[in-house]
Amino acid sequence: MTLQMLAAVVEQFGQPLVLKRCDIPTPGPGQILVRTEACGVCHTDLHAARGDWPLKPGLPFIPGHEGIGIVTALGAGVTSVKEGERVGVPWLYSACGHCEYCLSAWETVCAQAQFGGYTKNGGFAEYILADPNYVAHIPHGLDPREAAPIICAGVTTYKGIKETEARPGQWIVISGVGGLGHLAVQYAKAMGLRVCAVDIDDRKLAHATRLGADAVVNAKKGDPVEAAKEATGGGGHGVLITAPSLSAFNQGVAMTRKHGTCVLVGLPPGEFPVPLFDVVANCITVRGSFVGTRQDMAEALTFAAQGKVKADIELQPLSAINQIFERLEHGDVPSRVVIDFSAV
Ligand code: NAD
Ligand code: ZN
Ligand code: ZN
Repeated sequence: MTLQMLAAVVEQFGQPLVLKRCDIPTPGPGQILVRTEACGVCHTDLHAARGDWPLKPGLPFIPGHEGIGIVTALGAGVTSVKEGERVGVPWLYSACGHCEYCLSAWETVCAQAQFGGYTKNGGFAEYILADPNYVAHIPHGLDPREAAPIICAGVTTYKGIKETEARPGQWIVISGVGGLGHLAVQYAKAMGLRVCAVDIDDRKLAHATRLGADAVVNAKKGDPVEAAKEATGGGGHGVLITAPSLSAFNQGVAMTRKHGTCVLVGLPPGEFPVPLFDVVANCITVRGSFVGTRQDMAEALTFAAQGKVKADIELQPLSAINQIFERLEHGDVPSRVVIDFSAV
């Protein structure tokens, strides 16, 4: 008898997800089965379900790359995790392990990488198949529902902040303080930076202030570039753009201090013009950053386990997934929605 699980499935791009019963997968050699306890809903899941990006997932697929759960079965040959351990199944689902990028701790750009909830089924389901070599190891004492946003939003912003190369005492501008940004503010403060938060929603900015932001700028009011430069005395030494909006990218580059680094993390479909003269004459670095390595993941989780960073979560059942997507699309999610599988 095959047992079944509830899953939210993308059957067509741009259509509501379909809640259905599917067979619980069986772990093959080198795989593990994870019983999902919680899974965060990232804006990337929305891009995935709409087919926003040039590399599209094959249909049908189960999104979700912030899934946390308990290992319930091991495929043949698995020794690196044990049944009963709590793990996370992240966006970096697996990589080849032997290319030049894997060998130099840049497995995030491995050409053979698979992506959780995108090229592999993800955490919007009661069970997830995973690669034990790439799962996140959730520290004891960290609630699985609070761990969920850390394994994408947390690691992505922690890595992105490191990639700005801003040093303690310097300014970082964080554009977009939603799921990613509300954690970015906390990581940046914990890393000793001064934070200027930028968003288009005063409620998000008020929240950023509560989380420790030193200055806030509403990008819909006045001249946000001037306001950010004034607040930071010349622009951010680092700028981290998490906003899923192209206008934030032009503004973010312009908010970068001379010789500073602007890190692009948000992934709205499209392109944005870079003002060459300003970037060249001011010696600005513009750099992309894509999730984080397994070592970044361990570090990002340690901040959470130590209570230095705490995801602000709203719990919902899996059956609410389409309403959650609708709210995320319209900016109506305060920080992060996490699907609580004790209430599917
Ligand atoms: P979210 O919807 O939770 O938050 C987005 C925030 O940006 C909201 O607070 C919104 O009000 C704000 N915003 C919208 N337009 C803005 C503008 N013009 N200026 C400033 N702020 C603006 O989304 P999220 O889950 O935080 O994801 C954000 C983006 O990051 C998505 O595009 C997602 O795909 C991408 N992402 C990238 C990576 C990566 O590895 N590079 C990882 C995860 C997510
Ligand atoms: Zn994500
Ligand atoms: Zn590789």
